[in-house]
Amino acid sequence: MQNRRKFIKLSAFGIPMLSSFGSLSRDFTTARGQVKPIVISTWDFGIAANQAAWKVLSTGGRALDAVEQGVHVPEADPKNQSVGYGGLPDRDGHVTLDACIMDELGNCGSVAGLEHIMHPISVARLVMEKTPHVMLVGDGALQFALENDFKKENLLTKESEKAWKEWLKTAKYEPVMNIENKLYDKAAPQKLPGNQYNHDTIGMLAIDAKGNLSGACTTSGMAYKLHGRVGDSPIIGAGLYVDNEIGGATSTGVGEEVIRNVGSFLVVELMRQGYSPEDACKEAVMRIIKKKPDIAKKIQVGFLALNKKGEYGAYAIQKGFSYAVCTSQKNDLLIDGKSYY
Ligand code: ASP
Repeated sequence: MQNRRKFIKLSAFGIPMLSSFGSLSRDFTTARGQVKPIVISTWDFGIAANQAAWKVLSTGGRALDAVEQGVHVPEADPKNQSVGYGGLPDRDGHVTLDACIMDELGNCGSVAGLEHIMHPISVARLVMEKTPHVMLVGDGALQFALENDFKKENLLTKESEKAWKEWLKTAKYEPVMNIENKLYDKAAPQKLPGNQYNHDTIGMLAIDAKGNLSGACTTSGMAYKLHGRVGDSPIIGAGLYVDNEIGGATSTGVGEEVIRNVGSFLVVELMRQGYSPEDACKEAVMRIIKKKPDIAKKIQVGFLALNKKGEYGAYAIQKGFSYAVCTSQKNDLLIDGKSYY
């Protein structure tokens, strides 16, 4: 089963090539049992994000810095219509961003419904480091960002505005599954009308040379959502959870179902009980399917997990969930992780 999986290999960070992948979970420990640095992240855009994170990890940097730098890449990419700048707006035309970050000490910070700021993950980090709080939302989050010298910018690109105006003609709220593969899979590029690129999140988990874990999660959320809607991505325990003793987990897909099941916390707790990263992700997916089988048939939710040993795994409701894995040896994209359907 596993060796039938395909993935894009970018050894030495070169040009992507299709290849097959033998095992989802590998032990990245040295001969002396020390865990080697590793970074993993969701979807095809994780490849470029991992490269940026790797620059930090490979020079002995902290996992927290690596995940922040890593997710900056999709946040600043105007072509990525589901994260940061260029994200598709809500129903009323506002680009509203959700992000959270968590370090090896259990510190965490989060912003939700943040507008006009290119890097919500860095605002989330500042909430964590400079305030007694965990989460700031909406205007308060913006005010905090501006007070801390973040620049106010227009994040709605012409392309995303056009897609939104097109969407307004029917104004149907229908999340499309796995759109990012079609956007970023260079092996099989496909052009969809802009109004179909309507969700996906970068969730990133890393272990640094000291063996410490951190994670980050950032998104523009579901396109054309109600103004004020917050997904799972900025919710600690739902979109992201890190426990430096055990491991970390992150999620993507329809956030409401992840929140209902406190998904990422669940994955980490299952790993604490001895589940492998992939089995823990699978169990979390099964909770969603068991509780709402009819809804689950039509939506995508994927979990990605990394344990303290450097083993990783993923599981999704639907086929097509991809994730990127970067170590000193490789920067691979798994484009057909395990799924229920
Ligand atoms: N989880 C995100 C949200 O619900 C969207 C996604 O990852 O597809 O906002």
